[in-house]
Amino acid sequence: MTVLPNSSGLVMDEPLLWEKGKKGRNGFSLPRRDVDKFPVDKKLISKGPDFPDLSEVDVIRHYTRLSQWNFGIDTGMYPLGSCTMKYNPKLNHILSGFSGFTHAHPLLPDHLSQGALKIMALLETFLSEITGMDAVTLQPAAGAQGELAGMLLIDAFHKSKGSHRSKIIVPDTAHGTNPASAALCGFQAVPVASNENGILSSKAVADIMDEDTAGIMVTNPNTLGFFEDNILEIADIVHTKGGQVYCDGANMNAIMGIVDMKKCGIDVLHLNLHKTFSTPHGGGGPGAGPVCVKKHLEPFLPIPRIIEKKGTLMLSDNFPKTIGKLHGFYGNFNVMVKAFSYILTMGAKDLKKASQLAVLNANYIKEKLKEIFYLPYDRPCMHECVFSDKHQKEYNVNTLDIVKRLIDYGFHPPTIYFPLVVEGAIMIEPTETESKEDIDRLVDAFKAVVEEAKIDPDLLRNAPHNCKVKRLDEVTAARHPCLSG
Ligand SMILES: *Cc1c(COP(=O)(O)O)cnc(C)c1O
Repeated sequence: MTVLPNSSGLVMDEPLLWEKGKKGRNGFSLPRRDVDKFPVDKKLISKGPDFPDLSEVDVIRHYTRLSQWNFGIDTGMYPLGSCTMKYNPKLNHILSGFSGFTHAHPLLPDHLSQGALKIMALLETFLSEITGMDAVTLQPAAGAQGELAGMLLIDAFHKSKGSHRSKIIVPDTAHGTNPASAALCGFQAVPVASNENGILSSKAVADIMDEDTAGIMVTNPNTLGFFEDNILEIADIVHTKGGQVYCDGANMNAIMGIVDMKKCGIDVLHLNLHKTFSTPHGGGGPGAGPVCVKKHLEPFLPIPRIIEKKGTLMLSDNFPKTIGKLHGFYGNFNVMVKAFSYILTMGAKDLKKASQLAVLNANYIKEKLKEIFYLPYDRPCMHECVFSDKHQKEYNVNTLDIVKRLIDYGFHPPTIYFPLVVEGAIMIEPTETESKEDIDRLVDAFKAVVEEAKIDPDLLRNAPHNCKVKRLDEVTAARHPCLSG
């Protein structure tokens, strides 16, 4: 097996512990016997479980090797578009692991939880300041739950005015979870196409906005990586017909401290703490999708809410117009501590700089890779850029083949076949934490793969070659997963 430059620990092979074991091998030595031998009653001796005999070094190497099969942001670049897989400073994890935080019981009385409550209250204030919005709930556990919360808030708002609206406008550049969240809330998602610049035109929205439409769900920046330049006009059109503007702000990493969402006409916005604010994600671990609202929607926010009474912070359920509870206790507290620590350590200036660098890095990649990939929208992007496999079609290889071969070069593939508006999409988000050298290595790897496509397309079609797991039958893998061997 050839090991290509830059390949990671994914190439190692490793048998099962049962295959490694050798009779009589030990992971420990008992002290020398200093008492007389005494026969043990046979009835008390069981055969014991069928464990293999292994030394300490056998076991350590086994598990260390297994741990390296798991590609992660600590192993290398993870350019998944729309996911913001950035490196998260370890300091924030260390702080959130302090026993004062991890041992705090959610049923402790308020007067013994002042520190935790203060962190949550301050984090709400920070997020208000970063987004420009008036009030925040930290409760939703993820972006999609934040979207659902937002839809419930908009529905509650309309109901409070005695009206019931059944539709919601969702552009084709919205994140895939948006129409699902709208549907969960009972709305009918009405699609609207983006224009030739990859953004929404005011006219397209004006054409379908009516008085049975509760509002619009805009992902901004959208999933093509573009800022919705017409957002102000679009918000006006929606508001004039009595609708509300929901913004999916999971891509806040591009505009932190730069764009005031309230001034853009947004009424509800969710953030993903597990993308932008220092919680790693991707393994299904806990996250947080805070929802930020304008003043008029504040009464509907989920309970409990943090309030202050005579200098003491407490959780209160006394909000009669609330949409109710969305999560046990008050959401994923540990994720909040990481975000709090990240915001404090960065400060306003560096948060803004992080966004500027994320945008710079994406534009750098866009300019470098448009030499080899088709770029459907050739204009400045925000935090991510979207190419397609159109130029590679002549060699009969597609997006999947290209990114599978990228694995052999030690990179996690980018997001593919999304957004749906671009056929054969390759969606790359470098984030601000990658250096120019690492980005150049990714660009070089893509260029090498594209050259290989011209000479030996089968090399791509059968890739990956150097990886523990070869090309999977994706349908069978999803429908009939074999998890045991
Ligand atoms: C990731 C993402 C979501 C969904 O967030 P989850 O926490 O995975 O539910 C929604 N919208 C956008 C734009 C995203 O990037």
